[in-house]
Amino acid sequence: MNLAPTELTGDELRLQSEVRSFLDERLPAGSYPVQLGIGGCDPAFSRDLARRGWVGMAISRQYGGHGRSAVDRLVVVEQLLARGAPVAYHWIADRQSGPMIERHGSEAQKRELLPGIARGELSFSIGMSEPDSGSDLASLRSRAQWRSDRWVLNGTKIWTTGAAQATHILGLFRTSEDRYGGLTQFIVGCDTPGVTISPIVFIDGSSEFCEVSFEDVELGDEHRLGEPGAGWAQNTGELVLERGGVDRWMSMFPVIEHWASELAPEDSAAQADLGTITARMWALRGLSLSIARLVDEGGSPVTEAAMVKELATRWEADCVRLVARHLGRAPDPTSPDPWEALLARAVLVSPSWTIRGGTNEILRSVVAKGLARR
Ligand SMILES: Cc1cc2nc3c(=O)[nH]c(=O)nc-3n(C[C@H](O)[C@H](O)[C@H](O)COP(=O)(O)OP(=O)(O)OC[C@H]3O[C@@H](n4cnc5c(N)ncnc54)[C@H](O)[C@@H]3O)c2cc1C
Repeated sequence: MNLAPTELTGDELRLQSEVRSFLDERLPAGSYPVQLGIGGCDPAFSRDLARRGWVGMAISRQYGGHGRSAVDRLVVVEQLLARGAPVAYHWIADRQSGPMIERHGSEAQKRELLPGIARGELSFSIGMSEPDSGSDLASLRSRAQWRSDRWVLNGTKIWTTGAAQATHILGLFRTSEDRYGGLTQFIVGCDTPGVTISPIVFIDGSSEFCEVSFEDVELGDEHRLGEPGAGWAQNTGELVLERGGVDRWMSMFPVIEHWASELAPEDSAAQADLGTITARMWALRGLSLSIARLVDEGGSPVTEAAMVKELATRWEADCVRLVARHLGRAPDPTSPDPWEALLARAVLVSPSWTIRGGTNEILRSVVAKGLARR
């Protein structure tokens, strides 16, 4: 594995400062609840961001996107997460469903969906996991059967982040008994008859997670994404878009920044801890930036992305423990201090950060297999 060190160019630094100025104006401190990573659903904010050209950056211009580089997108994403901005409405469509539709979709699907994604109007969620199929995704049982002139979908998806606010679900369904070759992706409108979306209350009281059931959901063939049976390969490609970026490990950034701003210079133990986590974060940021450069050069850094997600989500968990330890007591989720309440939330939800997008145990296997092949 060889990731070449890289820096932001002059144009990329200019983009960074444009995004910072926009956020200073659009999201002044105290005007919104700061999020831990990719939370907070605010369709109006997503649309405003899109008007600046910062949603659908990876989608090509002919479909309403902006044809920008992976590094440009990283620059924007980094600034949004550093502020804890409310990005959930457009996030999944921007990061993965849009690029997946552009890569595998029919011309009609691209024309119908991509401009709406780039305008921040369409919101997608990912329908992969099922009650008995998470890491072993190929064991999934939700089924799509072709009946004379239409597909009929039945089954249950779980942990479908954001489904309650989404306009569409990009779901993986079994279309034949072949374990890997029998899976197919479908684009399902959330208002399709037979689709029921039930939010699941998470440990911190939020309800971003959902269970989605499909009961005799009828879809025309134009809802199929890619060839029948191509779903496994497509899904593997999609997971690469889900890993390796800064959005997988900047959840704690606003909390750390606030903590750092309050540290007394004479608190040498805290200053030393801050130095350590900052150095680790800078190294991880360098790795994510190198991965984005590799993508722009036409590479497919699957192993590298898995490695960054594994290393960085462990770093995130260390940050939660460290900031909580320096508080000196268990943070109170009902504290009138919004930063303490946010830290308390991080304590509750951070165990999930190493699980989403593939658990660390699985990612270690991905890295080991990737290295063995070289
Ligand atoms: C915050 C969050 C958001 C999510 N959002 C979505 C979403 O939007 N859409 C979606 O489809 N899914 C989503 N998921 C589901 C997520 O992808 C799965 O939870 C994850 O893939 C793990 O699957 P599982 O929960 O079934 O655990 P399991 O696969 O049952 O694993 C349980 C434990 O066993 C270990 N394990 C399993 N297999 C192996 C192995 N072969 N070798 C070593 N160890 C192993 C795992 O690492 C884990 O520790 C989300 C999950 C979280 C936590």
